[in-house]
Amino acid sequence: MTETIMRTADRVIAATYKRFPVVMERGQGCTLWDTQGRRYTDFVAGIAVCNLGHAHPRIADAVARQAGQLVHVSNLYYTIPQTELASLLVEHSFADRVFFGNSGAEANEAAIKLARKFFKDDRQPERFRIVSMEKSFHGRTMATLSATGQDKIRQGFDPVLEGFSFVPFNDIEALKSAVDDHTCAVMLEPIQGEGGVRCPDPGFLQQVRALCDQRGVLMILDEIQTGMGRTGTLFAHEQYGVTPDIMTLAKALANGLPIGAMLATERVAAAFGIGAHASTFGGTPLVAAAAAETLKIMIAEQIVDRARETGDYFKDALQRLKSRHPCIADVRGNGLLLGIQLDRPAEGLVPVLMEKGFLVNCVQGDILRFVPPLIIRKNEIDALVQCLDEVLTR
Ligand code: PLP
Repeated sequence: MTETIMRTADRVIAATYKRFPVVMERGQGCTLWDTQGRRYTDFVAGIAVCNLGHAHPRIADAVARQAGQLVHVSNLYYTIPQTELASLLVEHSFADRVFFGNSGAEANEAAIKLARKFFKDDRQPERFRIVSMEKSFHGRTMATLSATGQDKIRQGFDPVLEGFSFVPFNDIEALKSAVDDHTCAVMLEPIQGEGGVRCPDPGFLQQVRALCDQRGVLMILDEIQTGMGRTGTLFAHEQYGVTPDIMTLAKALANGLPIGAMLATERVAAAFGIGAHASTFGGTPLVAAAAAETLKIMIAEQIVDRARETGDYFKDALQRLKSRHPCIADVRGNGLLLGIQLDRPAEGLVPVLMEKGFLVNCVQGDILRFVPPLIIRKNEIDALVQCLDEVLTR
């Protein structure tokens, strides 16, 4: 059966994904099982998506209840789950308003459109340019790949959208030179995820905020990977003493159901009036109910504090591993967004660890990234670190 599934998939699904030769069938908490009955501890979590683990009973119940009541209606009408979710997000963030889409890319599309519209409405139509960071990742739609500072993502899709430029992450002087009277926004991830788990230097995000204020430019934070408790605070920017004008979320927001959200202050969100933007499925009741339940569990069970504490434990263990293995050049990240950079290619380690029952992921060729569910236990972390120790010794 496994072989048939893989062969059929390779024939009928667009060949955009390089996949490992396993068919995943079932999950529970931080464990996944494939169709051969092999068991894996999941340090990928759908790439920072399933923060509360797989098959969470309360989320499964919320989805089942909502599915039996109302899956979808148009945004022509109000619904209870969408209103509840937006209220929770507003209550727990800097934002006054939320626009819902279905993915991270769509959340960023909305942010880009809102930044441009804000200045059009302000009679400054010449301000439409966005400065973002080298090695950033903001998505795969035309606008979001235009905002992404990695050539390999943009390759083959020229001409990209006009109005995007890039500066090195953590280079405030370069950013000061790049921001001009045509800039509407600076867009960045608080910690670069796909770019290799790169943290901001002390003070960098505050300098970006100050520059944006000085130049009258909007600050867009892409918290699609860093948000929802991943880095040890509900949103990563809280740790760096800055507040954006616009923030985007997706990934973990509904613990695995597809959703994206763009949050903004009232002043900025006012540019999105009736008809300015829309999405058929955005904030649809089924997904919104899952997201609202996810957020309620996270708050009631103090999952964010737990992620911070477990993340510190994990990072310490990785630092100790580094002291024993000179091939580990760096240990980076915050909370449960962690990475080790090797002094050599790291891709080959992924199938080796998989063979031993651990799912991890490699970014930028030489970095192993760890983004487990936030409910990961210390003994599961110990087991992975011990396995890494053995594999690196070999
Ligand atoms: N922004 C960041 C920081 C991401 O990590 C990702 C996905 O990895 C995206 C945007 C795009 O999200 P999606 O794949 O849901 O469109």
